Amino acid sequence: MRPLSTWQLLSLWEQGLAQPLANWALLVLSAACPETPAEQLAELSIGNRDSHILTLREWTFGPNLTCLAACPTCSEKLELNFQTANIRALPPPETSELMLTHNGYQVRFRLPNSVDVTAVTGDRDPTENRRLLFQRCLLEVRRSKGKVVAADVLPEPVVEAVITQMAAADPQADVQLALDCPHCRHHWLAPFDIVAFFWAEINTWAYRVLHEVHLLAAAYGWSEADILALTPWRRRFYLEMVRP
Ligand SMILES: [Zn+2]
Repeated sequence: MRPLSTWQLLSLWEQGLAQPLANWALLVLSAACPETPAEQLAELSIGNRDSHILTLREWTFGPNLTCLAACPTCSEKLELNFQTANIRALPPPETSELMLTHNGYQVRFRLPNSVDVTAVTGDRDPTENRRLLFQRCLLEVRRSKGKVVAADVLPEPVVEAVITQMAAADPQADVQLALDCPHCRHHWLAPFDIVAFFWAEINTWAYRVLHEVHLLAAAYGWSEADILALTPWRRRFYLEMVRP
């Protein structure tokens, strides 16, 4: 994997405007890992994918993360400051198959990947999406005596146990921030999605950079390519010269 250039980031921003986030994350990985076939990147577990995106975010904007959260009890706004290392989880197991025995059922399954997520993302009800995602990741279900049974006969407690083990095996896929409200002392867990976060940052960054291109192009008549080829320090210097 290699860092993304300014050109690549701008191109990914343009492509991201018309893509669901799960597809956009794959475009980012493909741009950063040109030597790896796209199908292979799409089969990375979601935690593995997010671990790569976290590294790219660190290379692009540094290790410090800042975001806002609202207390669900009193609506107090909290500014959160943390580092990429604080949300870096252990990688998932190398093996692509996992096994769980629960309540007399033996379930063989794998971790969800980008192919699964893009296949189930849509206008369906979130519970239905979750069920479809789960079914895609089931490889085989047996009763204790070894008889293979249909996946849809799995009782809910077994489904929950498998989902819990999936999350535990791929912790980077489900990052939760433990937050305390300074106002009402409420404690809660807030999910943190690195793909959505990185996209929002690139979106803000692209608007700023293109605005700078506009100012310099209007003032000096330089091309977009010439302006983007300037080092950030030179670009800042010329911007200071033309800003009123
Ligand atoms: Zn509160």
